[in-house]
Amino acid sequence: MSAVLKIANESEEIISYNPATGAEIGRVAETSAEETKAAVERSREAFKAWRKTSFAERKRFVMKAREIILAEMDEIALLISNESGKPVAEALSMEIAPVLDLMQYFARNAEKLLKPRKINIGLYAALGRSSKIIYQPLGVVGIIPAWNYPFSIPLGEAVMSLMAGNTVVLKPSELTPFIGLKIGEIFEKAGLPENVVQIVSGAGQTGAALVESAPDKIMFTGSVATGKKIAESAAKNLTSIVLELGGKDPMIVFADANLEIAADAAVWGAFCNAGQSCSSVERLYVEESAVENLTNLIVEKTRKLKLGKGNDAATDIGAMSSERQLKIVADHVESFEKEGAKILTGGKHHDLFFEPTVISGANNSMRAMQEETFGPTLPIATFRTEEEAVKLANDSEFGLTASVWTKDLSKGKRIAERIEAGTVCVNEVLYTHGIGQTPWGGFKNSGRGRTHGLEGLMELVQPQHIHVNRVAILPNAWWLPYGATAIETFKGFARYFASGSLFQTSKLVPQLLKRIKELRKK
Ligand code: NAD
Repeated sequence: MSAVLKIANESEEIISYNPATGAEIGRVAETSAEETKAAVERSREAFKAWRKTSFAERKRFVMKAREIILAEMDEIALLISNESGKPVAEALSMEIAPVLDLMQYFARNAEKLLKPRKINIGLYAALGRSSKIIYQPLGVVGIIPAWNYPFSIPLGEAVMSLMAGNTVVLKPSELTPFIGLKIGEIFEKAGLPENVVQIVSGAGQTGAALVESAPDKIMFTGSVATGKKIAESAAKNLTSIVLELGGKDPMIVFADANLEIAADAAVWGAFCNAGQSCSSVERLYVEESAVENLTNLIVEKTRKLKLGKGNDAATDIGAMSSERQLKIVADHVESFEKEGAKILTGGKHHDLFFEPTVISGANNSMRAMQEETFGPTLPIATFRTEEEAVKLANDSEFGLTASVWTKDLSKGKRIAERIEAGTVCVNEVLYTHGIGQTPWGGFKNSGRGRTHGLEGLMELVQPQHIHVNRVAILPNAWWLPYGATAIETFKGFARYFASGSLFQTSKLVPQLLKRIKELRKK
């Protein structure tokens, strides 16, 4: 058995439930701390051979894994839906399709993206030197994802890690352990060499054990609180980390926007995945003159949405993934009401199904406009000026994504650049995690580092600088021993060579020759 790690200690089990029905899906034994450490050690061994594979070989495995996903698409979509609660439609549109695209993109392009790069070293080149950067893999990448996109996020990160030449130990969320095991099974079926991808199962303590096992990188997706714990623990081994954390993403709608489209976007952006997206629209700011029209459109569209089980094709909004999350949403809705906002539609729940909830009269002083809700709520606030819109949007500890809606694209782009967020869309919302070619990550407490895109791939390699002296026949002027000639020469370096100008540097030549002659004599 290569990709899937079967677990030793049978007494500690995670029970996976279907949040829509409460039915048990199955049980997975927890991987102990010792087993997790052993998995990292095996991964380090496997890395020795994997790092030597060509991009073409890696591509073959990843493309094979894609074929397996395509062949098992219905089964995988249903598993994602059953374990996370989301509609099958979203398992397909927001997880399977985007990650298949990411897989083909990095399989086909990693070699080009990681091509060795020559560096322009200016006047040093005139001295016969050359420099290039090559990108070396890191070693073992530990992946610790959240439960909200349990297939696409860890699988995408695993594929990028593999294409960069690393091996992977993945610990899925305890709420979605079978999806994690499915990822292991896919790689196993694709014929990936033993221990190149391993899955360890468990909750926070297994995640903590993975971090303590000192992999070479941790790719973490989850809450700010856990992110801080991981940063602290990783620091003990100087393990570098990428943190993809929470969001409180603003959507700014100007009166000149296409309000019909903006309303559709707000409804999807706030309620898809039952609002459990890190880049969900959590705050809607509307120019005062348009608020009535936009709100009416949003309420009308929201009332038509169907709550239901994920495996029903008619379902728009599925069950929330956990009771813990549902309680936060209920608390936020209650606190909005207490602080004077008005629930226009929704606000109630039965079991883990929370009605999509539209709230008017919100403002930034309300607690639930500051804390991440991570559920199907859409609070609406207003602004009067461009300046005020930017100020309200930036008034948050988070900065993951944001969107600006206006027909005036230059205004849209101008405002976008003033928003403190890792991604800002103009007349678009939420979906760019699905474009694997683009970087993903947050400003402020929304995270550190990037996944996806060239920037994300660079997180998974270490640049190595190769410097060559093609004319190693004379000692360098800056070598030992020193003396009066050396000091005069170094002043010349400061005055002329360091100017970057070849003309200025030519003034240094007589002094340089004198110094070299002196060095050769010694
Ligand atoms: P969480 O922090 O509770 O758990 C995330 C993962 O960390 C899980 O696998 C968990 O088992 C593990 N974990 C918990 N304690 C740990 C520890 N001490 N050491 C190591 N691992 C530990 O988060 P969650 O509830 O699963 O996810 C929801 C959060 O994720 C939200 O805040 C959401 O915004 C965020 N998120 C961010 C992104 C992004 O790209 N920025 C994407 C998805 C979700």
